[in-house]
Amino acid sequence: MCRHLGYLGPPVPLRSLLFDPPHSLATQAWAPRDMRGGGTINADGFGAGWWPPGAEAPVRHRSAMPIWTDTTLPVLAGVTSSGAVLAAIRSATVGMPVVETAAAPFTDGRWLFSHNGVIRGWPSAVAALARDLPVDDLLTLDAPTDSAILWALVRGRLRSGQSAAKAVAGVVTDLVDVAPGSRLNLLLTDGRQMVATTVGHSLSVRPGRDSTLISSEPLDTSAAWQAVPDHRLVTATATEVEIIPLLST
Ligand code: GLN
Repeated sequence: MCRHLGYLGPPVPLRSLLFDPPHSLATQAWAPRDMRGGGTINADGFGAGWWPPGAEAPVRHRSAMPIWTDTTLPVLAGVTSSGAVLAAIRSATVGMPVVETAAAPFTDGRWLFSHNGVIRGWPSAVAALARDLPVDDLLTLDAPTDSAILWALVRGRLRSGQSAAKAVAGVVTDLVDVAPGSRLNLLLTDGRQMVATTVGHSLSVRPGRDSTLISSEPLDTSAAWQAVPDHRLVTATATEVEIIPLLST
C-alpha cells in the first residue's frame, strides 16, 4: 500500500534516500516488508519532490512506471542534493487509475503531500466532506483518486490559514468518523517542517542530531529508528520530533 519518506537536514544526495540504503525506497518498491491491508509490491508509479538549495518552492519528478525502470534517475539522484525531500512509491488501490498524476507527491506552492492508504467506501464516503471544496478544486484534481481528494481537503485547510498539523489532523479525524476502516498515513512538508499521521499503516522515524527521517519502513538496520504506534500525529523539524495521539489534537 504505497510507501513514503520525508527528510529534513543538511543537504544529501537524493540517491542516499532513494537508492543507496539497504532497504531504500527503490528496494521497498519490489520487496516491501510491512504492507498492511493488501498489495505486495509498489510498482504503479513513484515521485520525488525536493528543494534545491535556496529555492522557494520544491521541484517534483513523477512517473506512472515502477521506480526501478527509470535508469536515469539513480544517476541524476547522485548529483542532486537537497536538505528537504519527500518521495513516494505507489501501489494503486483497485479501481484507481495508474497514471503519472496519481503518484505522490502532490504539490501546491511550497507544500508537498503524500498519502499511504485507502479511503473505505470511496467515493461516496467523502461526499459530505468534499461538498465544502470549491468546484474549481474538484475540476482541477490531479487524478480521480482518494489521495488526490485528500490533498484537496488538506490544501483547503492550509489555504484558510490552518497550521500544517491542524490541517492534517483535522482531515484525518474527520475521515476516521465518516469512513471507518480507512488507512490514512499522510505526510506533508513545506521544507522546514514535516507532519505525518499513522492510521492503519507502518511508519518509523529516525531522529538525528541535525536531521530527521520519516519513512514507512526503516531504510537500514540503525537502532535509531523508532516505530510510530498507530493513531499518532508526528510533527518534526530537522532537529525536533514530537509524537502525540491523533485524537488529542
Ligand atoms: N489509494 C491511493 C492510490 O491509489 C494510495 C495507494 C496506496 O497507499 N497503496 O493512489
